[in-house]
Amino acid sequence: VSKEIGKRNVVVFDESHVEGFVNKVQLESDIRTGLKKKEFILVYQPKIDLKTETVYGYEALIRWNKKGRDMIPPNDFIPFAEETGLIIPLGKYVLRKACKQAVEWIKMGVVFRTVSVNISPAELEQNDFFQNIQLILKETGLPAHYLELEVTENVLMKNIERLTNVLIDLKELGIKIAMDDFGSGFSNFRYLSDLPIHTLKMDRMFMNRIVENRDEVIVESIIRIGHSLGLEVVAEGVETKEVIDFLKLHDCHSVQGFYYSKPLHAEEIPNFKL
Ligand code: C2E
Ligand code: MG
Ligand code: MG
Ligand code: MG
Repeated sequence: VSKEIGKRNVVVFDESHVEGFVNKVQLESDIRTGLKKKEFILVYQPKIDLKTETVYGYEALIRWNKKGRDMIPPNDFIPFAEETGLIIPLGKYVLRKACKQAVEWIKMGVVFRTVSVNISPAELEQNDFFQNIQLILKETGLPAHYLELEVTENVLMKNIERLTNVLIDLKELGIKIAMDDFGSGFSNFRYLSDLPIHTLKMDRMFMNRIVENRDEVIVESIIRIGHSLGLEVVAEGVETKEVIDFLKLHDCHSVQGFYYSKPLHAEEIPNFKL
């Protein structure tokens, strides 16, 4: 249940997410401790080019490996971190870790184009977000073109002009911007041509609906609009061959989903085969 309503910034933080935590004060201090103790880990889900059926990138997804508990998924603590501002240190940690990891893969000879990192609206709103990214790239030695930032439509709810400028600066640096969960919110086609977006990630919900023979026309249209605007179109949450075939038929560039692979640990990537 919480997965579905857990869409970032759309729903106010829901206490039921914090199962097992005594209260928010406790959770806040646990996240701080978790950061110090490096309990947060990243797993990486392969992105597959549908034409060549090869992996071309990885999305970094956070997990909380809290002592004495099962691995905690992001929807159970990211909304809270966003609400409290803890997303700022957490986000910096994730960015640095993903960039470091990408450099390590490059050194090992792993062939890929991009590592993608999810960015919360509050992070992008920080005045020093751009400088911080530059610093992380410099410190880790990752060339900017390897980095893709995934943002959702929610980033556009506030101060669209300033945020557009930040995205333009990032693009000029060589960083790619992906519009995540596209179609799940109040999707506005106008910003697709106004914003410096490189990738359109179609929301997982549509893939379920293809299986039910619904929304096929919508998916087809999103792919076509994406192509017309010169965007790369990625489908997320692809679980079946049926959906793959549909997407191939309509020339969707790439997919991410359990059909090909679940998110993997960094150590599994160099030897991963489709
Ligand atoms: P997202 O960015 O849309 O990431 C895709 C989510 O869909 C991931 O869930 C992934 O495991 C899941 N997924 C991928 N393929 C399939 C599939 O075939 N079927 C199904 N049922 N699910 C699939 P995850 O890892 O639980 O992440 C949930 C959300 O948490 C992410 O959605 C993203 O919004 C947020 N998130 C994750 N890591 C971070 C992070 O480092 N920073 C921030 N700010 N948000 C993060
Ligand atoms: Mg994402
Ligand atoms: Mg998504
Ligand atoms: Mg999502």
